Amino acid sequence: QYISKKVTEPFNHINLDCPDEISVYEELKPFTRRILEENYEKNQREQLRQQFSANVSHELKTPLTSISGFAEILKTGNVDEITTKEFAGTIYSECQRMISLVNDIIKLSKLDEKSITQEKEGISLRDIAREVITLLSPVAEKKKVSLRLSGDSGMMNGVPSVIYEMVYNLLDNAIKYNKENGYVIVEIKNMIDTGKIFFSVTDSGIGIPENERDRIFERFYRIDKSRSKELGGTGLGLSIVKHAAKYHNASILISSEVGKGSKFTVVFTNS
Ligand code: ADP
Repeated sequence: QYISKKVTEPFNHINLDCPDEISVYEELKPFTRRILEENYEKNQREQLRQQFSANVSHELKTPLTSISGFAEILKTGNVDEITTKEFAGTIYSECQRMISLVNDIIKLSKLDEKSITQEKEGISLRDIAREVITLLSPVAEKKKVSLRLSGDSGMMNGVPSVIYEMVYNLLDNAIKYNKENGYVIVEIKNMIDTGKIFFSVTDSGIGIPENERDRIFERFYRIDKSRSKELGGTGLGLSIVKHAAKYHNASILISSEVGKGSKFTVVFTNS
């Protein structure tokens, strides 16, 4: 009884917020260290969450301020027809921007909370890529960018909607950050020997400087903010790609040359 009392005694005094406040016997130290680590991770997560909320508020406030300003002028009724149309157009596009932003936030939070309700199932990356290409063809045509799909079927176990979002965002970027008369190639390779699947999207666009390659996956990070906004970007696309890849235990590789183009490769380890 004496021994068990000695063993359990420190537990009655440990402050879970600062477990190193009191000194404990040697064998208990890994336990207090573990609490310290967990607290650190919790704080980091909390900080990220706070930063995200601040960014979301800021991103929503900008279009709202603009909408409110134009509506206020229209409200006076002293605006000619041409200007009215122009202001209405701006209000419409700012609303579209807000809708895209809110949609991306919802997608990201669904991926974040691990609240994916759909089960993984047998899917073909090629079929999903074909679907996305069909949807994005008009956008590419408008920009005179050609889209090509080649390679294997890319049969794997995945959540269709999550993979769809991943493919959509990679292709959307490849078109958005391309040049007129450029190209986008989607290629799928099934590696029979290793069981890995390589899904790559190559573009002939503006490229990504080496020092930006890690940061572009951060939420709301854009290399050229005004360019991204002009193209309807939310700054969340690659965060969605990153989370979707992580959910499927896939890694992402980038190779790029500024002014020549970029290649994003998602490597799935088929299991
Ligand atoms: P956005 O909505 O701004 O496109 P993303 O998260 O999808 O946000 O991408 C972050 C940034 O990474 C973009 O603003 C752009 O600067 C850069 N980027 C992403 N994809 C490409 C690409 N294929 N070519 C060049 N730059 C890219």
